[in-house]
Amino acid sequence: SLVLGIETSCDETGVALARIHDDRTELLVDAVASSVDEHARFGGIIPEIASRAHLEAMVPTIQRALGEADVDLGQVGAVAVTAGPGLVGPLTVGAAAAKALAVGLGVPLHGVNHVIGHAAVDEMVHGLFPERVMALVVSGGHSSLLLVDDVATDVTELGHTLDDAAGEAFDKVGRLLGLPYPGGPHIDRLAREGDPGAIRFPRGLTAAKDQARHADDFSFSGLKTAVARWVEARQDAGQEIPLHDVAASFAAAVADVLTAKTIAACRRHEVDTLVIGGGFSANSQLRELATRRCAEAGITVRIPPIRYCTDNGAMIAALGAAVVRRGLPASPLDLAVDSSMPLTQVTV
Ligand code: ATP
Ligand code: MG
Ligand code: FE
Repeated sequence: SLVLGIETSCDETGVALARIHDDRTELLVDAVASSVDEHARFGGIIPEIASRAHLEAMVPTIQRALGEADVDLGQVGAVAVTAGPGLVGPLTVGAAAAKALAVGLGVPLHGVNHVIGHAAVDEMVHGLFPERVMALVVSGGHSSLLLVDDVATDVTELGHTLDDAAGEAFDKVGRLLGLPYPGGPHIDRLAREGDPGAIRFPRGLTAAKDQARHADDFSFSGLKTAVARWVEARQDAGQEIPLHDVAASFAAAVADVLTAKTIAACRRHEVDTLVIGGGFSANSQLRELATRRCAEAGITVRIPPIRYCTDNGAMIAALGAAVVRRGLPASPLDLAVDSSMPLTQVTV
């Protein structure tokens, strides 16, 4: 059967179609429209602009997805939509479209969790998850470590960031270095040509005293402040800022903490498969270090290709397919979106 997935939690309008097979979920098409350029001059997402952009892009993006997959709406067996977390206005536009489709087609509606979708999308890339996986979801709004016993029904949040998310820290440091919004990809690019050992920036929550209470939690705001101080001191002294080395040293600190803590959690919970997802998993420093350290630790690491790391409809179609595959009940047609949907709640 076919699942249509709709994602509108932030500034990407994503529509995807997934086919459920006994032993895999197949991605037929993944269409994305983004309003990111409209927000760039504000240095952040403007919810009102994003909502309006979703409203305009929704039907054309659905039509483009159906056209590219050569599928008629009548073949769709279920509709999955992001119910949260995210921006209320944008989520509401997606939910309204999904409800209209579900009612019109007479098929079940499944409201699902965006952050868990960031991990679930990998089922379409590297196959259905084994019985138990660790998921590190790192994005613009989240940096969480999830123990996934069943991606559709049983997710435990082991830890999360106490302040900034990894992507958020990159975007803030990007602003500080005068880079365009969002700064994450720009820092990634600069870092590739810098020396990651040039400056020793702090590794948050890795001291022995933090291990007891915050072993699986992250903190990036101290690091961000350390970068700001370092840059200010140079500027005050009239010295040039070695952008590549600052970017590389900062990126190295973030990748170091994320991978070290995640691998330690895998060991503690005896999990041998790690899935990394979310917009920040596009980061090349994280991808490289995670790949190397997991190989050393005997952990199988699964990271989707970059286009499935940032927000898209495929992640929602993938999680919707997992829900349909298990025969779970449909969400109510009056489902409300939840901007702060807990990460332990997979469906509505
Ligand atoms: P959430 O998923 O928590 O609701 P979101 O949907 O806004 O947040 P995503 O779209 O998943 O976030 O990720 C966007 C974030 O990823 C931004 O902070 C962006 O800077 C960051 N990002 C994207 N590519 C890279 C990269 N190559 N290196 C570093 N950061 C990156
Ligand atoms: Mg985005
Ligand atoms: Fe996201």
